[in-house]
Amino acid sequence: MNSLVVIGGGAAGFFAAINAAALNPAMKVTILEKSQHLLAKVKVSGGGRCNVTHECFEPRELVKNYPRGSKELLGPFHAFQPADMFEWLELRGVQLKAEEDGRVFPVTDNSQTIIDCFLSEAHRLGVIIKNGVNIKSLERHQDTWQIGLADGNFIQTECVLVATGSGGTMMSMMRKMGHHIVDPVPSLFTFNIADNRLEGLAGVSASNCEVRIEGTKFLAKGPVLITHWGVSGPGILRLSAWGARELASVNYDFMIRVNWDTRFSKETLVDFLKEWKSEHQKNQVKTFSAVKIPHRLWVSLIESIPKVGDLKWADVSNKHIDQIAEVICSSYFRVNGKSTFKDEFVTAGGIDLKEVDFKTMQSKLLPGLYFAGEVLDIDAITGGFNFQAAWTTGMVAARHIAG
Ligand SMILES: Cc1cc2nc3c(=O)[nH]c(=O)nc-3n(C[C@H](O)[C@H](O)[C@H](O)COP(=O)(O)OP(=O)(O)OC[C@H]3O[C@@H](n4cnc5c(N)ncnc54)[C@H](O)[C@@H]3O)c2cc1C
Repeated sequence: MNSLVVIGGGAAGFFAAINAAALNPAMKVTILEKSQHLLAKVKVSGGGRCNVTHECFEPRELVKNYPRGSKELLGPFHAFQPADMFEWLELRGVQLKAEEDGRVFPVTDNSQTIIDCFLSEAHRLGVIIKNGVNIKSLERHQDTWQIGLADGNFIQTECVLVATGSGGTMMSMMRKMGHHIVDPVPSLFTFNIADNRLEGLAGVSASNCEVRIEGTKFLAKGPVLITHWGVSGPGILRLSAWGARELASVNYDFMIRVNWDTRFSKETLVDFLKEWKSEHQKNQVKTFSAVKIPHRLWVSLIESIPKVGDLKWADVSNKHIDQIAEVICSSYFRVNGKSTFKDEFVTAGGIDLKEVDFKTMQSKLLPGLYFAGEVLDIDAITGGFNFQAAWTTGMVAARHIAG
């Protein structure tokens, strides 16, 4: 191919453009970006540190982090996965580090490091970058694409890569061209809960929780952080991603069931509490917690059971034990609404994956039209997986386009 126009100067578009230009130096590569900013989400990502990928080098494990796109990404991850991204960046002088939880950042802890690397590569390889470009039309004429711009000019190109992220005018243009768009809904959000048991506990975090969404198959384990509005933390964000579509369909009004200490089921906690009672008879229930959860949360949960908190453990009845086990292992909360997670949010939905060939990222409907990144109906849980999908789909497209 002799020419590629990438629409969208974000993570996926930039990565595809740089690699296509590197693999085929004779090809003219142009990025058209509608805003004045390049790589804007990379800049703010990971709280300004850019969680660039995840330390997970086994494609079959990696795909488990994608509520949408896991099946389709398996092949592409065999072609370009986090280990390859490590190598790609390190070859270009960007050192990375993995944190304990597997998230990978540049050692500088500064997203600008990634942006500087991409900009200098694009410059070195002669990628043409045009900002503030408003695309009015996209039409196929025989073997080439004609892109109509708002200023009245036209660009002819053999290949077009759409990497415009979620939403926007490009989606409606793709729909008009025959592609089916899966409706966008938010993913990665926190749950709003108004409940006396959580009042005054903002900032308290329980590390070993299991949260289920009642009436669904969705369940997540992990830390739960209590906020001013309800609950957040990795366990909740994971649930919001897996249940994104179903939770949107019930207008974010649903019940969750929380086990605050997953070392126990309700039944095993009942047995444990009976022993605890006999060993700690003189201690007051409220002040002497039997489980490993933050003390303020224990007090609040115990106070939700009438008359138990002030008792000594010796005076606790079997009925009380049952109530305590219930409130620790099976607390129901009504969720009413959602809030945006401060660090990272993505959109589920986009170009229907059935209409894209994942060996090439080319449209199955329109030859010479390619997709990469969040414009596709792909999204992941937090941890660097969303960027990895952008790098991988961008690279697969670049390799095919570059021939
Ligand atoms: C605050 C925040 C923090 C995040 N942090 C992380 C993180 O640490 N790790 C992680 O893995 N993921 C993170 N994500 C998710 C990640 O940023 C996205 O998954 C990723 O940016 C998707 O890349 P993309 O290139 O597909 O889309 P984008 O990065 O959104 O880029 C799309 C580009 O296309 C341009 N565009 C749109 N329409 C047009 C048009 N019609 N014509 C021309 N240009 C157009 C846009 O202006 C934009 O520049 C974060 C997201 C947010 C919002």
